[in-house]
Amino acid sequence: MNGRTRELIERLAQEHHLTENEYAELIEDRDDEAAALLSQRAVAVRRAIYGDAVFTRGLIEISNICKNDCLYCGIRRSNGNIQRYRLTPEEILSCADEGHALGFRTFVLQGGEDTWFTDKALCGIVSELKRRHPDCAVTLSMGERSRESYQRLFDAGADRYLLRHETADAAHYARLHPPGMSFENRMRCLNDLKEIGYQVGCGFMVGSPFQTARELAKDLEFIEAFRPDMCGIGPFIPHHDTPFGDRSAGTLELTLYLLSIIRLIHPPVLLPATTALGTIHPQGREKGILAGANVVMPNLSPVGVRKQYALYDNKICTGDESAQCRHCLEARMQSIGYRLVVDRGDIHK
Ligand code: SF4
Repeated sequence: MNGRTRELIERLAQEHHLTENEYAELIEDRDDEAAALLSQRAVAVRRAIYGDAVFTRGLIEISNICKNDCLYCGIRRSNGNIQRYRLTPEEILSCADEGHALGFRTFVLQGGEDTWFTDKALCGIVSELKRRHPDCAVTLSMGERSRESYQRLFDAGADRYLLRHETADAAHYARLHPPGMSFENRMRCLNDLKEIGYQVGCGFMVGSPFQTARELAKDLEFIEAFRPDMCGIGPFIPHHDTPFGDRSAGTLELTLYLLSIIRLIHPPVLLPATTALGTIHPQGREKGILAGANVVMPNLSPVGVRKQYALYDNKICTGDESAQCRHCLEARMQSIGYRLVVDRGDIHK
């Protein structure tokens, strides 16, 4: 590590801010020593806020039907090679009941942009979920909707919303998405969600096609300015039935490096060690926690549909029952000296 890189890391740890050029420099000049220093600083700030706690969210993948055609996504509209499914409201609620019995106090309802989930349908599910489990936080991850829709869902009881920004560079966004999807609308959604009062999560893939240190530096600047409550980052992993099927995956090393940087940019942020990280390396999620992450998201979806929610190839944990997923992650966290906690896991501001 050169002196300049060390100086950037120490300044970031102190001031939680660098310029776009400095972020690009920090990424381009990285080496093992720089990664070690970054993760040491990141873990120290996270420990000061959250101790040894790792939060857990129960993920319910409610539909793999999507009207969109994002070029990197295995469940994109154009992929005719997957079996489509949509859970019924009762199936969704019973996944949550099962999760509640296992100790989960926060649920993430995630799906493609499936038009069956009108405001009325989704509000009904959210309010029933909150009625059955008033002690739980409900997170939605259902894509782009109108401001009015977000407001209705919030009024029905949704607490949090995850919408990855994907990239903070408009030209890069256009290379990852078909015409008809726009960077401006994605940003509009994120701003609406924040203004309405949701706890908001953004995020991006590491190593997505056409991404360079410059795009990543813009992502980091965006995170600095937007100050999300959550930030989901994971390596890009190609899906064979997409236009990016022959691209190489993002790396574990760069994902971990960025997790540490994001922790230092916004110390209280809720930062998941994602399933994608666990997919590119058997200990990816443990390594994510050791780089500064503090959330894991075990799968509560019915086992029968899990393989169909294939955003990318070789996704792990598609055959395990919910209880197995939870216990597996608990053991994994214990093995590295952390404690899986099952409360709502709100951000500590
Ligand atoms: S990334 Fe999301 S919006 Fe895009 S095709 Fe996949 S599920 Fe649909």
